[in-house]
Amino acid sequence: MDTLNIKALSLLKSELETWTTARENFEHLKSIETKKLDFEGFSVEVHFNQLRRRSAAAQLDAKSIAERKCFLCAKNRPREQRSVDCGHFELLVNPYPIFPQHFTIASKFHEVQKIDGYFAHFTRFTQELSDFAVFFNAAGCGASAPDHLHFQAGTKNFLPLIKDYKNLKQKNAELVFSQNNYEIFLLKNYLRKVFCIETENAENALQAFDLLTVNFGIDKNKINIVSYFEDEQFYIFIFPRSAFRPQQFFADNEAEKLIISPGSVEMSGVLITPVKEHFNKITKSDVADIYRQVGAY
Ligand SMILES: [Zn+2]
Repeated sequence: MDTLNIKALSLLKSELETWTTARENFEHLKSIETKKLDFEGFSVEVHFNQLRRRSAAAQLDAKSIAERKCFLCAKNRPREQRSVDCGHFELLVNPYPIFPQHFTIASKFHEVQKIDGYFAHFTRFTQELSDFAVFFNAAGCGASAPDHLHFQAGTKNFLPLIKDYKNLKQKNAELVFSQNNYEIFLLKNYLRKVFCIETENAENALQAFDLLTVNFGIDKNKINIVSYFEDEQFYIFIFPRSAFRPQQFFADNEAEKLIISPGSVEMSGVLITPVKEHFNKITKSDVADIYRQVGAY
């Protein structure tokens, strides 16, 4: 039987053949402007992607959410959108991609976005989609459907954090907890706080996640989680969040304004703006300031 890695790639291939919106948007992604800002020991990329306007500038207050049709519910999806059955969840192609391969893993049910009770599903997808990175945005921390439980998956070596982790760890990681079957590291000098759980076993990953949230006072409803599975080992990054959008998002003068809505992708080193002027003007000090506001120290 085909693995989920293979099923995901074959779904993407067939959607790109038959679904015009998805094909055009994935094609557009190949030509977006990007720039790289170098910090000490790591870099942050900025991407100008107009197609992300819908998510980056989305109204996510309870009233706006209640009034719109949920785009993850099967009954509201475009008729071209197909899925791979994954039990409680379905794997879909994300038609507004950030990654060259980008999927949404949506619950079959319209139930609230939360990790509590679903972390074991998250690690299962991390393991089964080992060719990809898997991530979770808590409601209010980058999820554009805070009312519909979902994870996402994307091209594995796309996010700077994943590309740089093993190097960063050598110089800048503190082992904050270790047990027989898992270790928890904290990356230092990275502008935002991020923990990494390393373990070979999904049950231990859940134990480590529970211990981390309790011992370090992390609210499970205010986090981003990014993970990958390599050489029989889980790497699970946890970003505690203090705010969703930085004050620059709400600035009423254009000189200060920056439309950036940080979720897992941004916290992992790719800041996306749908506005060309904002892409042009953003500086290293803006990036450090945004991480300071939305991450945790
Ligand atoms: Zn829904």
